[in-house]
Amino acid sequence: MLMKRLIFLFFALLMAGCGPLDREPEMITIRGVVFGTYYTIIYYDDDGQNYQEPIDSLFRDFNRSLSFYDENSLLSRINRNEETAVDDYFAVVFRRSQEIAEETDGAFDVTVFPLVDTWGFGYSDRSEIAAEKVDSILDFVGYEKVWLDDGHIRKADERVQLDFNAIAKGYAADLVGKLLESKGVTSYLVELGGDLCAGAEKPDGTQWRIGLEVPAAEADAPQEWEYYVEITTQGLATSGDYRRYYEDEDGLRYSHTIDPSTGFPVGHHLMSVSVFAPDGMSADAYATAFMVMGLDQATDFVENREDLEAYFVFATDEPEAFSYYASSGLELLTRDDL
Ligand code: AMP
Ligand code: MG
Repeated sequence: MLMKRLIFLFFALLMAGCGPLDREPEMITIRGVVFGTYYTIIYYDDDGQNYQEPIDSLFRDFNRSLSFYDENSLLSRINRNEETAVDDYFAVVFRRSQEIAEETDGAFDVTVFPLVDTWGFGYSDRSEIAAEKVDSILDFVGYEKVWLDDGHIRKADERVQLDFNAIAKGYAADLVGKLLESKGVTSYLVELGGDLCAGAEKPDGTQWRIGLEVPAAEADAPQEWEYYVEITTQGLATSGDYRRYYEDEDGLRYSHTIDPSTGFPVGHHLMSVSVFAPDGMSADAYATAFMVMGLDQATDFVENREDLEAYFVFATDEPEAFSYYASSGLELLTRDDL
């Protein structure tokens, strides 16, 4: 069995023991489910306050705007052309999506939804004739076919539909971080389905340590890591084809990441990519874009960007073997560094 499990950063909370402090802030952990995925929020608060309630309420608002699962969300209504006016959440995600679409030459493109759906990763089962439908669907896919005009979404073709799944989790993590900051919390780590947003260092002065998971040979193998990274005030997101893909009768694998230039699911030896960016929303979007670009193009891209680092895991020629590439600014630490 090939590894079917998501290769995402597991959350190694290798918190070094805190030294004695004058006043020890309390560590609070909140876990739950949102957007069909698990979240974990860890922060230090002087008064040990639990912010579960405002966080839940933030997620409710966010869902009302951007949820793909809620048929009454603003996103769903805009996709059905029942609404054009956007709210702030929508506007922020949409603008950033369009910027990153331009920068990545359309590798990242939130208008892929009709393709995502046809390939069976949206609402519907995979169309038997997905490959034959691609050409006609491509007529209404393309980030330049949708824009914001004075607070309203405009479409060049009414069949244009948006998919924020590749960017929304990172943005939600950022928003939780902002919410905590508004409560006076500076030291936090927010993780939403493998996408992270880290605040300032922990009260003992150490950074947040995140283990980079190695691909497991068995679906139920324990999560293992070889390297870890230390992060503060930045976003980190992982995309990979291990969470969602299917194999057809011939054993061909279809990833849930779609190459908007061909309309077909991405198929190359890149297994997963983790991106470090100034915020979670950007990290999330670039990670998806890099899966589309493939190893060579994505490594070039990242090496030309001061604000981005990335960790790539890719398959090698030997069966079930893999290798990795870390961008030049990324410091990989091992158990010896602990
Ligand atoms: P992520 O796990 O962040 O890489 O997001 C993957 C999801 O983003 C997929 O399940 C699709 O809903 C959507 N998606 C697929 N291909 C693209 C693409 N090229 N650009 C933007 N979103 C995409
Ligand atoms: Mg993404």
